[in-house]
Amino acid sequence: MTIVTTALTLRAFGALSSLDADTRRALEDRSSTTDAGVRERTRAIIDDVRTRGDEALRDMARRFDGVTPDVSLERLDVPRAVWDAALTALDPALRASLERAARNIAAVHAAFRPTETITSPEPGITVGRRPDPLQRVGIYAPGGRAAYPSSLLMGAIPARVAGVREVIVCTPPGSDGQPSPVVLAAAALAQVDRVFVLGGAGAVAAMAYGTASVPRVDRIMGPGNAYVAEAKLQVVNQVAIDAPAGPSELLVLADDSADVEAIAREMLAQAEHDPDAAVLAVLFGEAGAIAPQAAALRDALERQVATTPRGEVVRASLAARGGVVWCNTRDEAVTFANAWAAEHLLLVVRDALRQSTLAALRAAGTVFVGASSSVAYGDYMTGANHVLPTAGAGRSYSGLSTLDFVRWTTWQEVTPAAAASLADDVGRFADAEGLPAHAAAARAWAGAANVAQPLAQTSAQADEPRDRLAFARALYDAVPLYDPKRAPVALDLTDNTNLWGLPPSAERTLREAPVSRITRYPSLYAADLKAELAEYVGSTPERLVTGCGSDDILDSAMRAFGEPGSVVAASEPSFAMIPIFAQMNGLRYVGITERADHQPDIDALLAVQPRILYLCSPNNPTGALTARATIERAVREAPGVVFLDEAYAEFAGVSAVDLANTVDNLLVIRTMSKAFGLAGLRIGYAIGAPALVRDVEKSRGPYKLSALAEQAALSALRDDRLWIDEHVALAVRNRERLIEALRARGYAPLTSHANYVCVPVPDSVAFGQALRERGVAARPFPALPHVGDTLRISVGPWEQVEQFLAAFDAVRQDASRENRA
Ligand code: PMP
Repeated sequence: MTIVTTALTLRAFGALSSLDADTRRALEDRSSTTDAGVRERTRAIIDDVRTRGDEALRDMARRFDGVTPDVSLERLDVPRAVWDAALTALDPALRASLERAARNIAAVHAAFRPTETITSPEPGITVGRRPDPLQRVGIYAPGGRAAYPSSLLMGAIPARVAGVREVIVCTPPGSDGQPSPVVLAAAALAQVDRVFVLGGAGAVAAMAYGTASVPRVDRIMGPGNAYVAEAKLQVVNQVAIDAPAGPSELLVLADDSADVEAIAREMLAQAEHDPDAAVLAVLFGEAGAIAPQAAALRDALERQVATTPRGEVVRASLAARGGVVWCNTRDEAVTFANAWAAEHLLLVVRDALRQSTLAALRAAGTVFVGASSSVAYGDYMTGANHVLPTAGAGRSYSGLSTLDFVRWTTWQEVTPAAAASLADDVGRFADAEGLPAHAAAARAWAGAANVAQPLAQTSAQADEPRDRLAFARALYDAVPLYDPKRAPVALDLTDNTNLWGLPPSAERTLREAPVSRITRYPSLYAADLKAELAEYVGSTPERLVTGCGSDDILDSAMRAFGEPGSVVAASEPSFAMIPIFAQMNGLRYVGITERADHQPDIDALLAVQPRILYLCSPNNPTGALTARATIERAVREAPGVVFLDEAYAEFAGVSAVDLANTVDNLLVIRTMSKAFGLAGLRIGYAIGAPALVRDVEKSRGPYKLSALAEQAALSALRDDRLWIDEHVALAVRNRERLIEALRARGYAPLTSHANYVCVPVPDSVAFGQALRERGVAARPFPALPHVGDTLRISVGPWEQVEQFLAAFDAVRQDASRENRA
């Protein structure tokens, strides 16, 4: 190997305090100027696209991208099959690396997703701020030698995670009219919606203003050449853009403990990007030690530059914008770093200084902490975004994140009582500003404190005292107290319990329970019950956790697995408590409407990257079974935990407990409230990987299941199985008979796999009320998706079904009489 001997030139080498003013200014300045010609030509291109649309784009493809005349430019977009093929053709090892990067980007950005905040500055005034995803964003992806699939992933995946509805990509054609295959493969991997084969300023203009083929977007991002950067600046009044990406930058902040070889490696890695890349080491330490360390670093650079393949680029970069400088105190080094505002900052200091130095850094695009945190990992794999502010913009701007893909809606609500208290102050303000109509609008509520709550308020709001305690959590103000409004009624068919009553052995155990069961605490981990439940469901005791009803398990498990603000996604309609548990645990609930076949829209559920994905099978209220393939896909693809609520599994005879026995991210939740007839005892349980259930147990706390409940459950499991089986079979038979009876009356009840039936009726609330007046309660579900107004009827003994049908017929007769009248 020949070692090149030309001495390395650095822009600056010396103690910070000894640098002359010119050198220091040159070291700090990374500005660049746009050539006036580029500005003018870009303006002309944008105007052309605005006036001639697609035609202008076709001309530009031939003129600027060199697309040959034999290539048809009829279609400006690339069919999805072509990108899918590009992904299939990708080298499998490279594909695996891209997939790993994509997974990490999705995970990191999902964790940092913006969340809604609700607060109350005074009783009766509630102000919320909600992030709303942008509708459509456009990503510019350069082609040819500048094709960076990583940048496409860094733009498209955060957009997806933030909930942007449509992500389009523009990428320039080669002379054959085709985009770079690796860009297409990345587009397929990031699951974008459309790819347009368009380059340069024309592509930016098309995305900003829209053409017949290219839809207008709400934000444009992605790196490009000088024309792309200039075009983005020129459309900034029309659409949000990202900051122009300047040449790469690295500042290494190190103390005298750092390994100079490692620092030199990192400096070379950034310098090889570009002759204009800026790489700088700022060392600090004792006067006697730090200058020799700086010299050692220069030697290390010298040695490494001599053998690096892109030596010419590296030398140019170091000579123009490179430096090794030092100072004696950490404060001085940090002050310099904060003023320089590097795109990448590598912090290599002794352990004791790490956290405090990290906390003091206020202007870097991103900080790599410790020598093993190579910048290259952040460029591709850690999941953090590599689109970062350069040229000192880090003093004012941050790196790309999900925040860039939302806009905020604030909302404000003032109760009549609070309005009354505001009327005077606001009226006075408006008078002072000479706005009499404002004053009148404000004062109109002056006497409102005594006004009754308007009827339009939800029952929850009407029930809650409106003046909340000063220390109450604001989010509790926004959540209603769950109240199914179950007034006593002769025949209650609203709660899907076992309407035949209590199983006989459980009843005996309850009646004969010794006093000592009640005076002492129940067993700590319900060990006996777990063993019996494990045998019943086909699992093992270490995979079981019990709780005070499955409600308690759902609540505890959300607390166990949801980081504050993370997403709980559920198929809708489903169990009404899920959004409430999510909100009460500080999580963000996202409901995704089920498909017309009553199956969860699993694509949409997965697209929101939920930390917790809730599925219910058979589902309450529809009674539909969730397809096994859907459950398996959820488990395979969800980034977090899947909760499968099997409260009614006995009636379906189908369960996914076997899956919960083998994977580590599925929690199957069951209850003894339904088939077992023990709803009043509050016994729920769940099956999952031992580590999963242990966390639920931590979150739940020690004594949730009462001692009596545990004993009754044990008796039922040991001695009442035949009774349960018989009554489940009866419920299933009566369910089918009820469905037939409803069909015979001209109704179209939904297929059910549970112990209830949903039947569409006109105006279900009024219908439910009329039934109640006749002594029978069924639960109305107004506006069920794809179905409309519906009543849900619990199925029990046939006499009860007949009683229901009699009331049902009477209500229908009343209605038809009224119609005739
Ligand atoms: N999941 C579903 C689907 C339910 O319908 C219910 C109650 N109706 C529950 C869970 C909660 O049941 P429990 O707390 O009684 O176990």
